[in-house]
Amino acid sequence: MRLILLGPPGSGKGTQANLLQDKFNIPKISTGDILRAAVKDNTDLGKQAKRFMEQGELVPDEIVIGLIKERIVAPDCEAGYILDGFPRTILQAEKLEETLAAMDQEIDSVVDLEVDPEELLVRLIGRSTCKNCGAMFHQTSHPPKVAGVCDECGGELYQRPDDNEETIVKRLEVYNKETAPLKDFYREQGKLKSVQGCGGMGDIFSKLCDLVT
Ligand code: AMP
Repeated sequence: MRLILLGPPGSGKGTQANLLQDKFNIPKISTGDILRAAVKDNTDLGKQAKRFMEQGELVPDEIVIGLIKERIVAPDCEAGYILDGFPRTILQAEKLEETLAAMDQEIDSVVDLEVDPEELLVRLIGRSTCKNCGAMFHQTSHPPKVAGVCDECGGELYQRPDDNEETIVKRLEVYNKETAPLKDFYREQGKLKSVQGCGGMGDIFSKLCDLVT
């Protein structure tokens, strides 16, 4: 199963992708996670990406396209994968299609997680993530049992540097301008499905699973 999760920052793509990877035993590929790891390790890629990420801008297409091309040919992707945060521009989507076509493959489904814009800001500002396992929490809607500590693995929780109000507003603008047009791109191919991203994460997950299986 080759799946794309679309949706604005804060719509729950990462959370749902984590659940999907466990259920279907296929990897979640998050370009945001790959780039954050590169920034943390101060690699060449990280040095190139850092300033764009800090400002809520997109990292240049050729960089992320290169990353994805390398990642989807890894052996663990043979049975499929969940793309979280890629593609984010029409060019990225076109290059992904080209790459897959050359391997005689295609994307099976694209799921758009729909959430009201006002709620996105609240979600992102209160969000924290486990440094160790990537589990996500929210200070009001899904607080950890012990502040700052992951319920799943005991790892340390942190707030992403780009989850501040100014950068969030920028990321939402960029989403509307660059990424939202992908909905029409995939709708025209008959691949777009939508799920209401509000409500309990278990309910959203079961609706999502019904759509993709
Ligand atoms: P995310 O974790 O998906 O919210 O991504 C965090 C940041 O990484 C974004 O705000 C961008 O700066 C960068 N990024 C992640 N994925 C992409 C992509 N497909 N294209 C361009 N930039 C990306």
